[in-house]
Parts: sequence; structure tokens; C-alpha cells
Amino acid sequence: MTTLYASKWVLPVSAPPITNGAVAVHNGVITAVGPEPEVREKLAQEGPFQTVNLGEAALCPGFVNVHAHLELTVMRGLLDDLSFHAWIRKLTQLRAERLRPVDLQVSARWGVVEALRSGVTTIGDTGDSGAAMDAMVTGGLRGTVFQEVFGIEMLKAKRSLTDLKRKVNAMRRQENSLVKVGISPHAPYTVSKLLYQLVTEYSEEEKLPVCIHAAESLAEEDFMRQGMGPIGEALRKRDIKWDAPGVSTIRYLSDLNVLRVKPLLIHCVRATEEDIGLLALWGARVAHCPKSNAKFGHGIAPALQMRKRGVTVGLGTDSVASNNVCDLIDEARFTGLLHRASQGDDRLLPASELLEWMTLGGARALGLENRIGTIDVGKEADLTAVSLAGAHNQPVHDPAVAILASSSARDVVLTMVRGRVVFDGQTVQTFDENRLRNQLQDAAARLI
Ligand SMILES: [Zn+2]
Repeated sequence: MTTLYASKWVLPVSAPPITNGAVAVHNGVITAVGPEPEVREKLAQEGPFQTVNLGEAALCPGFVNVHAHLELTVMRGLLDDLSFHAWIRKLTQLRAERLRPVDLQVSARWGVVEALRSGVTTIGDTGDSGAAMDAMVTGGLRGTVFQEVFGIEMLKAKRSLTDLKRKVNAMRRQENSLVKVGISPHAPYTVSKLLYQLVTEYSEEEKLPVCIHAAESLAEEDFMRQGMGPIGEALRKRDIKWDAPGVSTIRYLSDLNVLRVKPLLIHCVRATEEDIGLLALWGARVAHCPKSNAKFGHGIAPALQMRKRGVTVGLGTDSVASNNVCDLIDEARFTGLLHRASQGDDRLLPASELLEWMTLGGARALGLENRIGTIDVGKEADLTAVSLAGAHNQPVHDPAVAILASSSARDVVLTMVRGRVVFDGQTVQTFDENRLRNQLQDAAARLI
């Protein structure tokens, strides 16, 4: 049956906000959008339908988080205030030594619970264990699970590729129409030149989307340009030979012909003007994770300049082991304030534009813009409703401003993925949250 969702405001993103609006959903697809009386009249002519009244809320396209690490959810708040290199070492060690596969699965599932409660309907996840695949499929999320591959030693490249293929084949058995597998050759300091080439060929053969952590830090840049700094030091200690290419990470990936598969490049904090030109030329996409970058003191990615030059940029929270929350409203608000503060321009990134970054921008970054990202007839019904009834939101003069300037993920009252309500404002429909909370706490206890 068709359902009509009535809401004080509907924000289609592709069109101006509608006051007292409604969206009709049938078989997971949006069949009408407009002022409530018009939508109601249209549906009445077609047959029976049911109504859900969301009240004083803003109904938006589902939020798209283009970069997360769901399996690391159990480490939220555990590794705060460590330097980036101490953080990554500690995290890798804890993941390998303390967490059993079942713990990572619980961790990823709890990450999905948080996402659904936060109005996130699509995630670009990056992980090593494959746990996110089960969590996203079971939780009813949409997205891509990028399987990581590592290997800086040239001689081990073929073995790493074989390993990757085995993992991808196993994950592909769990794919459905919402969740797809991708691959992630982690970063230029953990993946050799040869492995990048092999993985890129493999991605083309199997039509697998690719994401790469790129140009994240000054340490990475020192390593790429001179082979120096803490990363070079760490490799020398392990007796691993590294010939620094002497160029930026993005230039390196371009020279290696890796950008031909239009990867999603995560961070790009150190991107230069020339780099941005290369991103635009190749059609590479970017995951902007400003809170994670700020937390590690890495700086601010030139995301606005990228957008201006036609590069597709989506917003990512990164893992909650660095950012602490999967809250795309908070991430977007931070994005706006950060770019205004650093560029001294109070007209940058108005609320309506930030809402586009959170929805259609993210959909584009993951190649899903034909299916989701706006509330338009014919698109799949991924919808999020944010209550604007709270004391901190009233009165509402502009619903986009109310979302971006005075709301948070805690105000989300409905999350729907392709017509299926996965969070109804009270409980997540796809998991037993209480049981999962206990399991998460048990897993967390293993880390101390
Ligand atoms: Zn990351």
C-alpha cells in the first residue's frame, strides 16, 4: 500500500522547502512530493493509502556518510588525544590482538544502530574484517563496504592481491540490492606501487569501486616527497626499502594511473592547486572528514576549492575511534563553521548548501545520485525526519537553518531506507538494541 508521510516541512534538496508538505512512498519508491493537500488528492484518485503524520519535523533525503569504519565503533573514546601515529599503531594492535571476529561484528552492528538513529541511510564503510558487510545488510542500511588491502613490500603484492580476492569473494555472497562490495588499497604509505597497480586492474575487471586514504597529513607528505618523517622512520626500522616518488600523494596516484578508476579519495587535506586539477581531470571523488582531520591536527582540506573546480565532494565522519560520533548534522555544521572561520567569509556554505553536501553530494561521491540523494518522484525512498519541535529549535524561521544550526542527530525521529522504516523515533527496527548494547560492553571490556 502507498504511505503518505506528512511533515511540517519537506526539504527535497532538488527544490525549495515545502511548508506543510507530504511525500508518498509506494514499494520503496517516491511516487509524489508536494504540498500535503495536493499529494493527498493525487493519492485519493489512485486508491487506498495510509498516512503517517510526522508533525513539527523536517523530512529530508536520507543522510549519506561517505566514510566510516563501522568495525571500530567499540573503540569510541578509547584512544583520544594520542598522536596520529600512536593512535593508528594502538588501534591496529588492539584490533588484531584483543578483538575476536564476533567482537568486530558486534562493534560494526552497534555502528549501524548509531547511524540509523542519526538519520544516516547510506554509508561508505572501510574496514579490514568484513564485519560491516553483515552489519549493514542485517541492519537495513544502504552503501558500499570497501574491503581494505595492505602491503608496502613490493614482493608481497601478489599474495596481498590473492588475499583480497578471497575476502571480496566471500563478502560478495552477502551482497544485496542495497549493499555492495568495494575495495580499499589503504594508503600510499601502506600499499606498494605494484599492489596499487594490481588492485586497480582487479577493480576494473570486477567493476569494484575503490577508496583510498590520501594526502591526509604532513607526515604522509614528507614521506612521499622525501621518504622522511615518522612514516619513513617506521619503515626503516622494519628494514623496508622505499623510494620516495618525490611528488604529492595525488600526483603519485595520477602518475600510477590509479585515478582512472575514479576512486573516492579520503581526506585530501594536503591537496594543492595542481592536485585539485588532477582530481577534476580524472573525475576522482573526495570524502571530506573535517572533524577527524581537526582532531588529529592535520589541517583543513580545501573542499570548497575542490567543489568550485567541479570535484565531487561528500561528507564523512570517519571512525568514531577518531571523531567519536556518527552525526552528519554535526559534521556539516562543523564544515560550515570551519571554512567560514578559516577563510574569513561569512557567506560561505549556507544551511541549504550544507544539506546538499549531506545528501546529494554524498550520493554523488558514492555513485548513487540516480537512485537517492533528493526527494524526487522516481527516486528510491531513503528519507530522514528531523524533529524541530525541541526547545533548542523553536521558533523555526527556516527549516534548513534549524537543522544545520540548532539540531543534532539526537533530533532524528524517522529513518527510512528504500521505503522500509529502520528507525521509528523510538527503536531501531532491525536489531535488538539492548542485547547488542550488552555485547558491545563485553567487547569493550576486552580492550582494557
Ligand atoms: Zn578512515
